[in-house]
Amino acid sequence: MLKSGLLRLSESPTAKRIITRAPLSRSFAQRFVAGDTLREALDAARALNEAGLSVSLDFLGESVATRDEAEEAARMAIEILEAITREGLNANLSIKPTQLGLDIDEAFCRANIERVLSRAAELGSAPGEIFVRLDMESSAYTERTVALVEGLWADGFTNVGTVLQSMLRRTPEDVARLTALGSRIRLVKGAYQEPDTVAFPDKADTDRVYVESMKTLLEAGTYPALATHDEQIIDAARRFTWERGISKDSFEFQMLYGVRRDLQTRLQEEGYNVRVYVPFGDSWYPYLMRRLAERPANVVFMAGSVMRE
Ligand code: FAD
Repeated sequence: MLKSGLLRLSESPTAKRIITRAPLSRSFAQRFVAGDTLREALDAARALNEAGLSVSLDFLGESVATRDEAEEAARMAIEILEAITREGLNANLSIKPTQLGLDIDEAFCRANIERVLSRAAELGSAPGEIFVRLDMESSAYTERTVALVEGLWADGFTNVGTVLQSMLRRTPEDVARLTALGSRIRLVKGAYQEPDTVAFPDKADTDRVYVESMKTLLEAGTYPALATHDEQIIDAARRFTWERGISKDSFEFQMLYGVRRDLQTRLQEEGYNVRVYVPFGDSWYPYLMRRLAERPANVVFMAGSVMRE
């Protein structure tokens, strides 16, 4: 109940106005967001690299409504790639299709993404280009995002991959589709409010499909990213890879900035590749609300901060 309420609020302009105005909610957001500026995000990335963790940088923003905003997001994505290279960071880039114009015009969005991928390929050094991940948004975009990746690969852009959500009923088919292509997949449970027609209402099914898809991806050997903070699932991955002799270098764990830093460090110390997703920018409202929905205990703190204003 609370979870779906929070996810509905994440799309409400009124709630956004009230919540973002409260300075304490802004300071709470800082737990999950590396800062407003690229400089702050690069500093956070450097600190994580020094601790042995790789990074995926994400300039916050989604559902843009104008071509200017989408082009500006593409320009920013390129600026991030150039900064990663210039500063020698162990980092790649995550972008959202609706941030690059998917709601405006699919061909326009694809052209923006191609500009970003071309620059990533130019900047890339051995052993490959800088990888660019298309984050997965709500189920309204799943087919278009998967098809976008297929189309980009068909045109030689193999430095791109996307994310699949185990809460969606269609995911096993998408796992097969993208594995056949050879593209890397980030596997997550899914952060959006979805109808039962497309998603499992029962979390046990989401977890079951996560583990099944995880095993398929690990065996396929397309360097999957297991993005979760769920210790049972992480243990299942450890056991499965050990039993099957799958090397620690052939996949990575991913976690969110500010979430389970202890677990990130522990896995890194055990020799696993761990990447931290580092969002930055001032459009943090929907991102923060999705993080609260994942752990409603945080809402008590957050509500207190808003009411004190
Ligand atoms: P859960 O069962 O939700 O949580 C497992 C444990 O982790 C619980 O103990 C829980 O309390 C703790 N935990 C989980 N989230 C938080 C939090 N925010 N704060 C504190 N503790 C927490 N979703 C998408 O839909 N599209 C994407 O592109 C996408 N990209 C992601 C990239 C990364 C690197 C990660 C880690 C997640 C991404 N997600 C994405 C979010 C994902 O779908 C889940 O909503 C989120 O990871 C929480 O699920 P979980 O797997 O950690 O398991």
